Amino acid sequence: MAQITPQPGIMEIALYEGGQSHVEGVNDVLKLSSNENPYGPSPDAKQAIADAIGQIHRYPNTDHLPLREAIAEVHGLDPDRIICGVGSDEIIQFLCQAYAGPGDEVLHTEHGFAMYRISALAAGATPVEAPERERVTDVDALLAACTERTRLVFIANPNNPTGTMIGGNELARLADGLPEQAILVLDGAYAEFVDGYDGGAALVEARENVVMTRTFSKLYGLGGLRVGWGYAPKPIIDVMNRIRMPFNLSELQMAAAIAAIRDRSWAVRCKAENARLRVWLAEELAALGVPSDTSLANFILARFASAAEAEAVDAHLKSRGVIVRRVAGYGLPHCLRITVGDDAGCRRVVEGVRSFRECLS
Ligand SMILES: *Cc1c(COP(=O)(O)O)cnc(C)c1O
Repeated sequence: MAQITPQPGIMEIALYEGGQSHVEGVNDVLKLSSNENPYGPSPDAKQAIADAIGQIHRYPNTDHLPLREAIAEVHGLDPDRIICGVGSDEIIQFLCQAYAGPGDEVLHTEHGFAMYRISALAAGATPVEAPERERVTDVDALLAACTERTRLVFIANPNNPTGTMIGGNELARLADGLPEQAILVLDGAYAEFVDGYDGGAALVEARENVVMTRTFSKLYGLGGLRVGWGYAPKPIIDVMNRIRMPFNLSELQMAAAIAAIRDRSWAVRCKAENARLRVWLAEELAALGVPSDTSLANFILARFASAAEAEAVDAHLKSRGVIVRRVAGYGLPHCLRITVGDDAGCRRVVEGVRSFRECLS
């Protein structure tokens, strides 16, 4: 059996851990570990699935045109430069598979999203990490980390798990400073939560080396359905379409995503509630001595005095049925990432942290 071995890199992949959703012995669990929309998807999306269910014996369309047109219309984009995937994770995978292999480097930030490293290793490439500046993407550090082997540079903006972001001038400076064989990938999983931010779409249109990824998993509340998309220069779209499975998305997925993106009032309300409760949650925790950077996403990164304290708070919250995310694997052992829930959910977090403090005093 010694001859039966996987491709190089694959055994270096640490399995992705999804947010925990159960606590032994607790019924009333509040899951705030995966940045899901606490209100769920638009009712129109659920109805669209019900309406499409009679056709599941039919193969889906392969070009995703109705979904691409809906996305293009809502965002003012060119449908020919959109590609749809099984979550934006699949777009990340397409990029790594198509553009990086053994001997190539895939650059990401210090506290960057875990899938960049996983997809790079799966493609046989070498993941490389650039330092951040106080939990913020550092363009100079990324440029300094580039070599003639760098093929892809991933940044999430806003980033997960830090919640921070950099501005348009910095993004353009990064795109312009990359070596000529490298693609800048702007992961916009949380772009919908930021006022006046296009996720990098205009930069994609103005450059030949920029790709944007987006998802229906966060603001649109469809994490369980698995739909994401990318926006890229036409030559890069043509490359990705060659490795995309023809039937990667079902009609149910596409129908629900179309209905979700067309229900603007649901999206606007979810975004406004998130913004309001994010500020409230951050202020209440700060008053309890738990600071966080200003977040632009649907979670906050709460900082504790030590890794031991973060672990103890996590255990205490869990005992009360509140599940948040430990982020030691992201190089942030003294932090907890807490999804902004609904009113009652945010109150439960604050009460949990307050009672932890009271237990100590
Ligand atoms: C949640 C998330 C994604 C989205 O993943 P999907 O595959 O679309 O569900 C992508 N990037 C980041 C940074 C995320 O946090």
